[in-house]
Amino acid sequence: MPGLFRQSIALLRGLLITGRYLFRPPVTILYPEVKTRVAPRFKGRHWLTLYADGVERCVGCELCVIVCPSQAIYVRAAENTPERQISKGERHADQFQINMLRCIFCGFCEEACPTGSIVLGQDYELAGYSRASLIYTKPMLTEPYPGASGRDPGREV
Ligand code: SF4
Ligand code: SF4
Repeated sequence: MPGLFRQSIALLRGLLITGRYLFRPPVTILYPEVKTRVAPRFKGRHWLTLYADGVERCVGCELCVIVCPSQAIYVRAAENTPERQISKGERHADQFQINMLRCIFCGFCEEACPTGSIVLGQDYELAGYSRASLIYTKPMLTEPYPGASGRDPGREV
């Protein structure tokens, strides 16, 4: 009899919890159809931004490489020439890679960048089926047009 009493109490408590949430908005969302809203300062996928005239902001200085605590960035710089002015500095990034498997999204690279080139956006869907697909290359990182990454204009350098 005490066992039956305890079971009844447990059942009632369970029903109470169900009743409490019956008329509240659902806690779950229909992901991936519905995306989670992130905080304005959320740090997600990186972008290499351009100036308004399409010139690359990155000058291949490698400060982001030096500051990265997880050694996720690889930059191979090359000289600009009068015929081939890729960036507004003396050099540009001939190769730029970020290993997303290593990145901890700390944002240090964004803070260190003297030209405001590298920014962390709000994209968080970064799953991949292979290691190679998660090493983002320069073409993958360079935005298709200025501001495509949602770059904060207040950070213009
Ligand atoms: S966010 Fe942090 S860990 Fe990721 S690439 Fe930038 S500095 Fe490295
Ligand atoms: S992204 Fe910025 S810090 Fe990194 S190499 Fe380019 S200019 Fe330098």
